[in-house]
Amino acid sequence: MAMGVRTGYLHWRAWVLSVFALAIVGGASAEDPKAVVIITVDALRADRLSIYGYPRPTSPAIDALLDDGARFDAARTVEPLTTPSMCSMITGIEPQDHAATRNGLRLRDGLESLPKVLSGHGWHTAAFVSNWTLKDNLTHLGAHFDDYSEVFTRRRWFGLLNSEATAEDVTDEALEWLSSHAGPTSSDPVMMWLHYVEPHAPYRYHAEYADRLRITDQDPKRSDRYDTEIATVDAAIGRLISGLEKHFAPAEMIVVFAADHGESLGEHDYWGHGRYLYEPSLRIPLGMRWKGTIEQQVIRQQATILDIGPTILGLLGLEIPETFSGISWAEAVRGGEPVPEREICVQAHKGAVHAEHDSDRKRSKGLLSVAIVSKDRKEILRVQNGDHLLFDLAADPGELSNLFAADAQPSQRLLECLGTISEGLGALDRLTSKKLDNETVEQLKALGYIE
Ligand SMILES: [Zn+2]
Repeated sequence: MAMGVRTGYLHWRAWVLSVFALAIVGGASAEDPKAVVIITVDALRADRLSIYGYPRPTSPAIDALLDDGARFDAARTVEPLTTPSMCSMITGIEPQDHAATRNGLRLRDGLESLPKVLSGHGWHTAAFVSNWTLKDNLTHLGAHFDDYSEVFTRRRWFGLLNSEATAEDVTDEALEWLSSHAGPTSSDPVMMWLHYVEPHAPYRYHAEYADRLRITDQDPKRSDRYDTEIATVDAAIGRLISGLEKHFAPAEMIVVFAADHGESLGEHDYWGHGRYLYEPSLRIPLGMRWKGTIEQQVIRQQATILDIGPTILGLLGLEIPETFSGISWAEAVRGGEPVPEREICVQAHKGAVHAEHDSDRKRSKGLLSVAIVSKDRKEILRVQNGDHLLFDLAADPGELSNLFAADAQPSQRLLECLGTISEGLGALDRLTSKKLDNETVEQLKALGYIE
């Protein structure tokens, strides 16, 4: 009975709010949005979404979102690993500067960040994370938000602790929070970041999507299971968008969609992400929608996850902290001057730290590779064995033919990229260390980051 009353109340309120919202959209200033929502999906390859050309209908809800604003066709993460990538998105700086270069390592204290800037302008900020590696006690990301929800609602088999969550749980938690922070009594704008953990390994099979995805195997392959995980997270994101739109009209809300990194599904004999800088783990889907302000378009120039913070602040007309190293696409997505093509410098590190002897003091020891990507030219240097690779991504999208001769020297730009990263890591090695607890070590093992 109580639930029925509550549900009825929500429906009534949502109806009034949506009618009210529709009534004011025409006259509302698009300069004054009421919500910024960043949705990130773990280990999601861009090329497994229908809108990026995948023939299976894995992603109707994500497609609808990305088709209704600016979609980036050549977006990359800065490091193909959850903690470093998400810490870069939130703080606007590169892993060697924020210090969380591997899973299990925490951010430096006192950094500027997108949610802190918004909070300083009266926004209420909240995060909803469902990957263990983003827990506040590991990353210190919680200090950047007014509310930091760790959504771990379920136990695996007979585990004693809640260590997992489904996409449905993340959507539920965020919508419940929104009901109490965006109601008639609160006028503060809200910033929400949701991180969904599917389709991260171990690629569970969701049989309810077999027909839609035309999977007929009784024992589906890993790649097929991965696709059903995308369909699952897509459904939860569709429900999230519907729930958000009960509070905010599309013209009142900036929605950004991205992945923290991609996923290698057997390419170069590798499953997973983190260790290599090949395109399957480096490329991410990226798009942003702000109805009436952002023009519907596909942007071909290279973008990175570091551009999310500057672009949101640019769209809101707020000052971008000097520390932020990405660029703002705010004018370009409004239909203004395109941003020129640029080079990006990316890095790969060992997956996780797991004990005192392998802790913060050893950040510089974790660097595996650096790369420079400039449109279709990609140069990779494997730091630990000196392997040096050059690919033409237009002619060889699978990165199978190394164009370098054995004695080719790294380009000046690649050496600068390596120098900047190494210098930052060297400075970090002087920071203090912290031992991980046993529970965290077990979770990092379950996620595949510790052997
Ligand atoms: Zn991840």
